[in-house]
Amino acid sequence: MKKQISYLVCVILFAVPVLGQNLFMPRNVKAAYANGTRSMDGKPGPKYSQNKSVHNIRMNIAPPNRTISGSEDIIYTNNSAKALPMLTLRFELNVHTPEAMRERPVSSNQLTSDVSVDEFSENGKVKAWTPLIRQKGMTYNSIRLDEPLAPGASVKLSFKWHYELVLESGREGVIDPTSFYIAYFYPRVAVLDDVNGWDNISHTLGHEFFGDFDDYTLEVSVPKNYIVWATGDLTNADEVLKPNIAERLKQSFTSDDVINIATLDEVKSGKVTAQNETNTWKWKAENVSDVAFGLSDHYIWDAGSLVVDKKTGRRSSTQAAYDEPSKNFANMVKYIKSSLEFSSNQWPGVPYPYPKMTIFRGFADMEYPMMANDSSQGRPEMQEFVAAHEIMHSYFPFYMGINERRYAFMEEGWTTAFEYLFNVATFGKPMADPTFKNFRVRGWIANVNSDADIPIMTPENVLTGSGYGSNKYGRAALGYLALKDLLGDVEFRKGLHSFIDNWHGKHPIPWDMYNSFNTATGKDLNWFWNAWFFTYGYIDYSVVGVEKAGNRSTIKIKNLGGFPAPVDVVVTYQDGTTETIHQTPALWQHNSKEASVKIASRKTIKSITLDGGIYLDYNPKDNIWPAE
Ligand SMILES: [Zn+2]
Repeated sequence: MKKQISYLVCVILFAVPVLGQNLFMPRNVKAAYANGTRSMDGKPGPKYSQNKSVHNIRMNIAPPNRTISGSEDIIYTNNSAKALPMLTLRFELNVHTPEAMRERPVSSNQLTSDVSVDEFSENGKVKAWTPLIRQKGMTYNSIRLDEPLAPGASVKLSFKWHYELVLESGREGVIDPTSFYIAYFYPRVAVLDDVNGWDNISHTLGHEFFGDFDDYTLEVSVPKNYIVWATGDLTNADEVLKPNIAERLKQSFTSDDVINIATLDEVKSGKVTAQNETNTWKWKAENVSDVAFGLSDHYIWDAGSLVVDKKTGRRSSTQAAYDEPSKNFANMVKYIKSSLEFSSNQWPGVPYPYPKMTIFRGFADMEYPMMANDSSQGRPEMQEFVAAHEIMHSYFPFYMGINERRYAFMEEGWTTAFEYLFNVATFGKPMADPTFKNFRVRGWIANVNSDADIPIMTPENVLTGSGYGSNKYGRAALGYLALKDLLGDVEFRKGLHSFIDNWHGKHPIPWDMYNSFNTATGKDLNWFWNAWFFTYGYIDYSVVGVEKAGNRSTIKIKNLGGFPAPVDVVVTYQDGTTETIHQTPALWQHNSKEASVKIASRKTIKSITLDGGIYLDYNPKDNIWPAE
């Protein structure tokens, strides 16, 4: 026994530098690592598990009637080690109920009432629908099962339900009287994880979502002449489309060209769908965290495809659905292809993991697995980069199973970093840099409210407003880009790919990301993670002055804001020549407050400017020496 204890002490002592003891861990996170559900080398632990639902969903919709009705069977399997006497369910659309909790006021056109559960059964036995929390507007609720669900066992839950689609469209709702976008529309079992237990954080409109990796068959019945676009593979194109239209769609799956599947004239003159009173469109999707769909009787339909995995030759379908006035959508399939080409081969540089990507003209600029609901933009570059952003969400949160309610900086942050890299590659730095500064950074660095510099690791379900927005987008994206500058592309890619390999299809938490990078690069990056993600900080450097020893100069710089960002030191010599010396965040590794930059040249320095580029400095006035 004694021997074992001293062995354990040794392991712990030796492990300290690699295990990153200096990153703060809340007690529930410590427990997860101690219990072996997660491992300090960055991988899932031997006891990691996650539960799964298989959904069979049937929906009925007949616009302009806004009543959406559905029925579904869920087979839910408990893969955890504990029996579950109760299940938590999600009803995100109850956020539209007047009584619901929301982070901001909404117009009356965004209010309806609770999703109405018309019939509920457990293992085939019809029961009264009596969830345990009786208040209205609950976006989560709990039910007690007839008997606890044992480890490894499954339960069948069946629902019939209906709700009224909101008039004012957000992430779902009415686009126009005969074009609807339908999302978060079905009852589902919440995620149960080893760190936070059941996902029972209210959906409050602004914040995002969290779903298990589930399998779906989805059937949507609509009147003839309505086309439906959804997550997953359409399995009955021959039943719902006219033969020549189905043939065009089929061609698009192997063609490198953009094919117009249905023109406005064809849609309007009944030449696209089968002419039954109603058509039932059917899809299948596996291992996705959600499904969504859009429908219209006057949208144009384009499609193409591309090889997303050059090793295997695997292709993905790319589709766009849009109304005639949305002119830039005519290039949308081209835009989707350029995004998938970039994301599969450049950053993150992982072959697009899904068979399809569809962008539907809506309002929200919002991502769903294999779908995006994008607004119409006047400028083509804007249309393309917003599309790229939503498409690159395919990795974070979807492929990576991120809990967006708590750790949005792991999905919006990464996606915003990829968006910047896409813009640099596609439009060049003269467009990408000012766009990134204006959209993603300036709002934060100019914000002098007390929530501006709150640590990024603050659980995001407790944040609202601008502090929340900059933490998950610009501030986090700058952190990932600063890490790329620190490590260089090869090591950065190694870390990123190791994190993706370790966790895709699962539910990583931030420490799994930090540990994956540390292990894969063999570097203790905790000083960087700590400075950027765990502490109050911002970017503010100042040139203190120049020290001369003989004819050698050393520039003294102070870090007033605390963040270790990259910076260019631009030196102008007395003879009029200039030199730019790039400093990676490593400048601040050993002393986070003061640093020196040695100048190799023996020439006399006339002036110095610190230029952070996209890493905007809070007070650029003291970035110049001598002071003006
Ligand atoms: Zn986003």
